[in-house]
This record gives sequence, C-alpha cells and structure tokens, in this order.
Amino acid sequence: EQAGIETSLDRFDAQKPHCGFGLNGTCCKNCHMGPCRITPKSPRGVCGADAHLIVARNLLRWTAAGAAAHGARGREVMLALKGAADGSLELPLLGSEKVVTTAKAFGIFDEAKSTKELAGEIAMILLDDLCRTLPGPHKTLESLAPPERLAVWKELDILPIGAYHEVFEALHRTTTGTDGDWENVARQMLRCGLAFAWSSVVGSSIAMDCLYGLPKRSRITTNLGAISEDTVNIAVHGHSPVLVAAIVAASRRSDLTAEAQSAGAAAIRLYGICCSGHSALAKFGEVTPLTNAVGAELALATGALDLWVADVQDVFPGIMDVAACFHTRVVTTSDSARLPGAEHIAFDHHHSNLDQADVLAERIVRRGIESFGGRQSGKVFIPPARMEAEVGFSVENILATFGGAEVLLDHLRSGRIRGIVNLVGCNNPKVVYEEAVVKVADELIAHDVLPLTNGCAAYALLKLGFCLPEALDAAGTGLNAVLGPYRLPPVWHLGECLDNARASTFFRAIANASGEPLKRLPLAFSSPEWSNEK
Ligand code: SF4
Repeated sequence: EQAGIETSLDRFDAQKPHCGFGLNGTCCKNCHMGPCRITPKSPRGVCGADAHLIVARNLLRWTAAGAAAHGARGREVMLALKGAADGSLELPLLGSEKVVTTAKAFGIFDEAKSTKELAGEIAMILLDDLCRTLPGPHKTLESLAPPERLAVWKELDILPIGAYHEVFEALHRTTTGTDGDWENVARQMLRCGLAFAWSSVVGSSIAMDCLYGLPKRSRITTNLGAISEDTVNIAVHGHSPVLVAAIVAASRRSDLTAEAQSAGAAAIRLYGICCSGHSALAKFGEVTPLTNAVGAELALATGALDLWVADVQDVFPGIMDVAACFHTRVVTTSDSARLPGAEHIAFDHHHSNLDQADVLAERIVRRGIESFGGRQSGKVFIPPARMEAEVGFSVENILATFGGAEVLLDHLRSGRIRGIVNLVGCNNPKVVYEEAVVKVADELIAHDVLPLTNGCAAYALLKLGFCLPEALDAAGTGLNAVLGPYRLPPVWHLGECLDNARASTFFRAIANASGEPLKRLPLAFSSPEWSNEK
C-alpha cells in the first residue's frame, strides 16, 4: 500500500458490491438467449430452466473445470512417468517403493518385472483412466477405493468411465436444452467429482510419487523474511513439477553457481509460491516456501526476487503489474498458461520437447542470474517475518512413527484424538486473508481434533507456527498426550493440493483398521477459504 502497488486484495474491494445473482448462483449464460437471471418476477430463464437447474448446472461446470485443472497437470507427470519408464526421457525413477505398492494394488506386480516395466504399466493405467473413451472400469478407483464406498457409488450409478469423458459429459449435459432435471445434473456432478478424486488427484499423486519419491520429513524456514538478499533469487509458482524438478537440478550445478558468483551473488536460491512451493520442498528439499496464490503479489513486492517462473493454475495475471514495478523478470513454462509481457520458455502443446527439460531449465536459471544484476537495492524490502516449520508428512512415515493405523485408531476410540480433519484449499479475500483457516485450526487443536494440512491453506499454519512441536501448548490434553512423546507438531503438513490424496489414503488406512465404513468415522475435509474450481 505504501509503495502504491495494487494487489488482489485491492481489486477485491474495487469489485464490491458483488452481483447478487452471481453470488446466489442464479445467473445462467450457457446460451446466447441469455444471460438469464432468476427473480420473483422472472422465475425461469428463456429456455424454462428454474433456479434449481441453473444452480446445479453451474456447480457441475465448476466441478468439470476442477477435474480438468488437476487432471491436465497430472497428465504431464503421467507422460513423464511413461517416458522415464520407456527410456524416452532421461529421468530417474526415484519412487520405486511407490511403484511396487501401486503395482500390487493394481494387481500387476510380478517379481520378474523391473521397476521400469512396472512404472510403464502404471503410467498407462493412469493415462487410460484419465482419457478412456470405450466404457470400462476406472481401474485406479476400483483398485484403491474402499469396497463399501464402491458398492454405494455403484448403487447410485455414479461410477465414472474416465476423467476426460465425465468432463466432456458435464459440458454436454449442461448445454441448452439437454439435461432438464437438476437431480440428474447433480448426479453427474458426483460422477465428475469421483473422476476428479481418482484420476485428477489420486492418479496424479501416484505418478508424482513414482517419479520423484515419497516426501521426506524436514524442518524448514518459511514466510517472506526467509528471502535472502545476497543470492540469485528464483521463485517457482504454480503446480507442475516436471520442469521445476529440472530447475532445482540446474540451480545446483556447479557451473551455473559459478556464473551466479561471477555476477556477485553468494549462490542461487529457489523459493516456492503456491503448490510448487510445497511439492518442490517435499520432493527435493532446499526450496523455501514463501506464500500462496493470494500472497504472490506481496512476495513480488519485496523487490528481492530476480526471476518468477510461472506454470499453471493460481497464477493471477495481476502479478505482471507488480513484477513491472521491479527488476523481476517473469518466465512462463506451459503452453496452457501464458502471461502478456512474460518470456515463454516452455513445454509445447504436444509435449514434444518434454525431453528438453534440462535445456529449458538451464536457460531459465541463466535468466535469473542475468536479472540479479538489475536488482535495485533501494527498492528491496524484506519484512522481518519468518517462521520455522516441520514438513514432509506422508502416510508411510506417519504409520511408521506410530507403529500402524491400529495405534491411531486406538487413540480415536479412547477420545484422546477426537477426530482428524484435513484443512485444505485456497484463500478468498471475501474473508480476512488466511484468518478462517487459522480460526478453524485453533478450535480443532484446542478440542483435540488433529488437523492435517496441504495446499494454499497450509501457508497460514506454516507461517504462524502451527507446524512446530511448541504449538502443542495451545492443544488439548488429548493431543498433547498422543503427540508430545514424539515431539510432533499439532498440525501435520502433507504438501501441495494434490496431497489431498495422502489424507484420503490415511483415512482409508484407519477405516480399514476399524472395519467401519469411512462415513462412520470422525474424519473430514474442510476448506475454510475455498475459492477455486479445483
Ligand atoms: Fe437462459 Fe436457458 Fe440460455 Fe441459460 S440456457 S442463458 S437459462 S435461455
């Protein structure tokens, strides 16, 4: 505000008052006879659709967009996994443990097959589930979902064919004069939701873990005060890990480090914005997570970032105006997401240059080194706000710490832990930035409910110390009794938004141990500041 820099928070104020029809979901512009708005005087659109149908159709289109968003970036990783397996890409398979457990779950494990062979078969199953056209079972869902849920979904007739098909069908049935029954539209929303969960989220997460390995526990420093002044500072923003992995590798190369030092910097440092921050840290370490999508312009306004590397999703176009106030260069890296004014060093639409990731990464890191020389010290302001946090929780390392899901189930049965809630999702300027997430977490831990967290919501909890063992002081006696002996924090950081898959896998492990259906257990997801179609 002092520097006259506009952020999403300012633009939110400028948008007030919001359109009441939009807020209610009772506006339709699915055809050009409209837009139609529902009022007591005009309770139906031109085609005869009422408020129920219009609201259901809008919800379905959002769900389809969410499935497409996570699914599209998941596809890139699935293609990379396939390339690593068949040798067309020079990528190491770092997640052999995940390859084996997934192969067993998919019923394709054979000791005679190599890790690469199994990974190749897994990639093809994930891609097939994503884009199936001929009707058939969704293999990931049918292999990994709890049998009692499968039975319910089958009974409701909401089992998806594949993610592409359900998104296609969602758009089809919401066009003018197609599905006129809001309940049938809502049923497709659930079907699309299952495609979202099992292809776009779980499938993508499996591919990432097979390629890059499982998260590792570590203690990190976060928030804007963690930015250093004497290094080439490169921020990675978005959600696609394939090029980010190559950028991390390039930033560690001795020749590029020497170039940075010749330019007057002590080293090359990487920072993470939004989910790239969480995932790059969990997979590769040494990437400092700074802030979420809504906070991105605040990070740019430090004037201390030399290069901003943007791929897909939650990269607001407004960042370009803030970057232009400083020396910060912006590079876009995906054909799906370009920004006017940014340099484009990217994978192409066909992913024909996926094997060029190292070359692209080298060019990108060199841009950061060149930009460092243009930094204007008088414009640098790094707020003195930094916090340590423990990160890198996975189902595997949680169960290993406690000795199995049965032990955690016993804590739930005794009431020492009264429930487990995954705090997830985005931020929304409709509430005070990050406050809702914090208030929910405060209440949960005070009442002995254990929060897990990932995605943009996690930043608030990282920055305010919830992910440190010391935060147990604000927790109830039950959580203290369970977590205190292990010196664990009261909030467990699972990673980026796709790591919802970790929480659901964890929940399933507890449900399996109990023999109870998931819905009867005190396990939940909450997105207190939801804003995004994903
Ligand atoms: Fe209006 Fe119906 Fe067209 Fe929607 S689909 S804009 S409600 S006429």
